[in-house]
Amino acid sequence: MGKAHVAMPRVKSNDLRNRKPVPCPKCGHRFIDRALSTVIKIIALLEYSQAEPDLYAKCYNCGTELGIRKLG
Ligand SMILES: [Zn+2]
Repeated sequence: MGKAHVAMPRVKSNDLRNRKPVPCPKCGHRFIDRALSTVIKIIALLEYSQAEPDLYAKCYNCGTELGIRKLG
């Protein structure tokens, strides 16, 4: 993180400042970004029945399906 030089498509600096990477709970790979003001909870597949996710995503690193619940 920080000022490491990584080959990535150019993104307006404004965009990155307003995002927070959310790591996959299983492998730690960044699988989604959230807005700074957005509070989310990552829900594992087995917990779907207890906490209904608003969104579903799949980590493309380890293949784990994850639910995302928006809390605010
Ligand atoms: Zn993963």
